[in-house]
Amino acid sequence: MSAAAGRLFKRVRYHVSMGPGNFLFGLRRRVLGYRLRIAQTQSGAFAGHGLEIGGPSPIFSATGAMPVYPIAHRIDNVTFDCQTRWEGRVEAGETFVFDPGKSAGRQYIAEAADLSFAADEFYDFVISSHMLEHCANPIAALRQWMRVVKTGGALLLVLPHRDGTFDCRRPVTPLSHLIDDDLSNTPESDRTHFEEILSLHDFVRDPAQFSRREFQIWVENNLKNRGAHHHVFDARSAARLIDHLHWQIVAVELMRPHHICLLACKPAAQAPAENAAFLDPQAAYLRASPFASDRVQARHASSQEQTAARVA
Ligand SMILES: [Zn+2]
Repeated sequence: MSAAAGRLFKRVRYHVSMGPGNFLFGLRRRVLGYRLRIAQTQSGAFAGHGLEIGGPSPIFSATGAMPVYPIAHRIDNVTFDCQTRWEGRVEAGETFVFDPGKSAGRQYIAEAADLSFAADEFYDFVISSHMLEHCANPIAALRQWMRVVKTGGALLLVLPHRDGTFDCRRPVTPLSHLIDDDLSNTPESDRTHFEEILSLHDFVRDPAQFSRREFQIWVENNLKNRGAHHHVFDARSAARLIDHLHWQIVAVELMRPHHICLLACKPAAQAPAENAAFLDPQAAYLRASPFASDRVQARHASSQEQTAARVA
């Protein structure tokens, strides 16, 4: 089989594994475009000066589902290294081009959990897409992100949903594990999840199309390349994580093929977050999720509730 035929075969195999719903959504998005509901209702939260952790990200571009870049006055960026697989060579300084019509933002080279370059409450918002799963200690990172955002400022977090990624055979990481990582100050060199990653990675769902050997080398060198997904999320586990940090959740939207889009705001210290509606296992966003495991969880919670009501 030629290289081109091999790529085509893998692409077809990927789409078959993801199912017709995903293929049809992708087609519709290409033809008609697609915007999150929060793009219509909450875009005012992104008019000021923000910080993106990782990226730049297609989902935040003018043609993306949540176009933050055309709205923002300025966006700075932080990435872990001057050379990454995703962005190639990156220079620190006024080099972060997030929108061709605007002045570049400042590029920082730093860990996501070490934003010591920014004063408390400096930014109007923080955005991050498909980055937090690469953090060995996501709670420590989110705590830093909250520190640098103004009270009332926004967090827009996009995480991969396990059902739509190569993590689909891995279990969702319990919040208790993330709390343990926080309490143990787990460093980026952590290898706890490598065995699980290597044994359960679904190569059919991997767009990088690694061979098994290449993937093993990639994971083993994670401290340098940061490719591994330490932790695995579904919609409710993402909401529980944000609630644990005491962000006020504003909306959770789920988008094929694998996006959990979560908008939250930083409440005043004297106004604790009230997230019960998003933590409810039968919440509307779970019942209507495009991801099967969210719907199964919601149905299971509903049948448990009905059983308990009958027993009572
Ligand atoms: Zn961990």
